[in-house]
Amino acid sequence: MNAEILSVGTELLLGHTVNTDTTIVARELSTIGVNVLYCATVGDNPARLEEAVRQALSRSDILVTTGGLGPTGDDLTKETVAAAAGKKLVLHEESLRRIEEYFKGRLWGESQKKQAWLPEGCTVLPNDVGTAPGCVFETETGKIVVMLPGPPSELTPMLTRYAIPCLASREQAVIVSENIHVFGMGEGAVAELIDDLMQGANPTAATYAKDNEMFVRVTARAESEEKARKMMAPLSAEIRERIGSYVYATDCESLEELAVQELLKAGKTLATAESCTGGLLSKRITDVSGASQVFEMGAVTYANRIKEQVLGVSHETLEAHGAVSPETAREMAQGIRRAAGSDLGVGITGIAGPGGGTPEKPVGLVYIALSDGEHTWVRKMMPGSAGRPRSRSWQRNAAASHALDMVRRYLQGIGGLEDAGLKR
Ligand code: ATP
Repeated sequence: MNAEILSVGTELLLGHTVNTDTTIVARELSTIGVNVLYCATVGDNPARLEEAVRQALSRSDILVTTGGLGPTGDDLTKETVAAAAGKKLVLHEESLRRIEEYFKGRLWGESQKKQAWLPEGCTVLPNDVGTAPGCVFETETGKIVVMLPGPPSELTPMLTRYAIPCLASREQAVIVSENIHVFGMGEGAVAELIDDLMQGANPTAATYAKDNEMFVRVTARAESEEKARKMMAPLSAEIRERIGSYVYATDCESLEELAVQELLKAGKTLATAESCTGGLLSKRITDVSGASQVFEMGAVTYANRIKEQVLGVSHETLEAHGAVSPETAREMAQGIRRAAGSDLGVGITGIAGPGGGTPEKPVGLVYIALSDGEHTWVRKMMPGSAGRPRSRSWQRNAAASHALDMVRRYLQGIGGLEDAGLKR
């Protein structure tokens, strides 16, 4: 089924409020396989709202409205939508009781009761955190209308707890998705590789960019989860095959989650020495529950003197090659491994920008080294696409991700440790 999201509120048109409701609703509808074809915004004006409702009902199977369900004079959504859809409003006793309960012991006005008037024959969506209930009803022409409150804190639980299950039950099908996570290959390169696999209607495959990673979502609709998974399996396998070792996991939280899991599995420990990432790598690792069993130490070694004193990077190396060099990264990884007595050591040094770059060593140049005591591998991360430097936080995050990717590749024994990849 197709849907249209109609956000109601003059504050949205004035740019005073960011329309996060539309994003939330669109995302949730996609999880049950409802395609959103249009998103519109209209002010608190009954004539224009009515026109927008009529247009939505003429071209979409489902209309979801957000906002304008409250008690004030400019909250006109219910009255206007009900009128446009040919429905009367009737008093819903249970909602009135909930509103009275909500205001028990507090001062409240008659206008609050307005919120308990709902379209005749609708399914009421309770508001677990506020007063205005939402509703779902079917028009005479078989279109479904869902009305949700404006505040995201009220809309989100109503949507996920009541509206989505209500819509999903009408669909009489389950929608199952899995995300194939990719690091080191850009969305464009992946899309090119699997272009022919993204043309199907059921199952579907689509690419999504996320920070400095991307993922491919494979989705199938069927009568049961088992059937949907069976339909997805050959497509997922073909996608993973084509992308190869750039796929780091399916349905995994993050690269750090995977790296910690692999360290736990292998019974190995890790220590990190970071310069330009300033501790971001150790922060990301320690975000993962269970990291204490595998993570020994994280040192932020910014100054050259500290690189020498704490990590044992040689003065000659720093003099001859500079702090941002493969040689320094190598000695940092080896040094932190020695200092911590861990199985693996990581060293990161680079130029995060925006200042500090030179033609030889531009912003975005980062060296990441991994040492296991016998070998040390160094990966070179180059500036963003077309040589354009990215933001400082992007560079730092990408460098930390490269380090995690090296750790997981080492533990999975799949090679490619020194290949920075980043095929865009
Ligand atoms: P209430 O019961 O609080 O009056 P309501 O359903 O009448 O809820 P509105 O009066 O339209 O909702 O909006 C209330 C507040 O909700 C707005 O001031 C704004 O902060 C937030 N809001 C409304 N619409 C959106 C939206 N599309 N995206 C994000 N926030 C929104």
